Amino acid sequence: MNETIAALIWALGLTAWFVVRYPYHRRKRRLKVVRNHWDLEERSMLFFTVVTLVLLPILHWTSPLFQAADYPFHPAAGWLGTLALLGFVWLFRRSHKDLGKNWSYTLEIREEHSLVTAGIYQFIRHPMYAAFWLWALAQALLIPNLIVGPASLVSVALLYFRRSPREERMMLDTFGDQYRAYAARTARLIPGVF
Ligand code: SAH
Repeated sequence: MNETIAALIWALGLTAWFVVRYPYHRRKRRLKVVRNHWDLEERSMLFFTVVTLVLLPILHWTSPLFQAADYPFHPAAGWLGTLALLGFVWLFRRSHKDLGKNWSYTLEIREEHSLVTAGIYQFIRHPMYAAFWLWALAQALLIPNLIVGPASLVSVALLYFRRSPREERMMLDTFGDQYRAYAARTARLIPGVF
């Protein structure tokens, strides 16, 4: 394991993100939206997440912009980052499959929306956000730079802590007691812990 291999592994993670998500993104456009939270806060958070998870790593490898914050690469960090990235790909794919046509890029309820409580969703309510935490962690371990590495952890933390309460309120408004009962028997991110 060296820095170049770690960079290639990071690129595989980005490719997996696209390959898993694209078919759901295409399908999504055909269903009518009945409730939506596409406001400035939501747009800014998603923009910041894409900047830190995609743009900053690319700038790190293609420009001298962040050079001053580089530190020596540790192979152990590279292996741990690879493990976290594998976890991301698995959880990301699993949660898309289980959500199916209920998935959306932003916070919204579409026509024929149903509450998913099976598959990975029987254990945790936010497996896709858990996947993003793993992706951000992988980046922090795979990129030996004090700014670019941890930047994604900041954006994912912001996204998670601002978005998940709004999402849960929206689900509660839509599904009422069904969602209340579901939330009472599941954890947010880690079964039995949080
Ligand atoms: N927070 C979830 C889903 C992220 S995708 C996760 O981390 O896995 C965001 C959209 O998924 C929301 O707009 C909401 O409409 C939908 N959603 C979230 N949880 C759901 C569930 N249990 N069943 C159906 N749709 C859900």
